[in-house]
Amino acid sequence: MVKKDVCDKCSKKATVKFNQQYCDDHFLQTIEKRIRKNIRKQDIDIKHQFYLIKQKGHEYELTKHFLKKIFEGRLKIKEVTKKQPKNNIYATSLDEEATKFLNEFFNNKKIELKGIKPLDVVMQKEQKEICRILQIPFEDKKDFLTQFEEQYPGTKYSLKKTMEHFKERKIQ
Ligand SMILES: [Zn+2]
Repeated sequence: MVKKDVCDKCSKKATVKFNQQYCDDHFLQTIEKRIRKNIRKQDIDIKHQFYLIKQKGHEYELTKHFLKKIFEGRLKIKEVTKKQPKNNIYATSLDEEATKFLNEFFNNKKIELKGIKPLDVVMQKEQKEICRILQIPFEDKKDFLTQFEEQYPGTKYSLKKTMEHFKERKIQ
């Protein structure tokens, strides 16, 4: 028997199929692990007060969900409508950040990479699956990068790497 429809990590039926395939539980676990790793790279000292910038949509709900899950209430987060002088947390997705980056890059604007973005490593198509599992309403936003990614798989991840490179070298 070919293990075609089975989760890569257990014997349950795979419900999410991208490069790897997972059951709902293992997909959530994989994403959470990726977000934890991403958060570790960002400047978070739990002694300080953090501000989650309010916005509509699933990115916001998912950011709240994962922050709660990962920090178990140890991180002081205040939901605010306006950007604070520091310690701002933004709800986003890899797609959104990559699109913003490209727009800024091509329009020769100052590249704004400040702020904590726990979900800038999670693609919209992955967020869609998480929303299904957690029963959070998802609205589809198909941008040019998503179409690009469909034609040339891997684009978003290469772009993310390029962004890291820029961040490390502090090119502005
Ligand atoms: Zn599994």
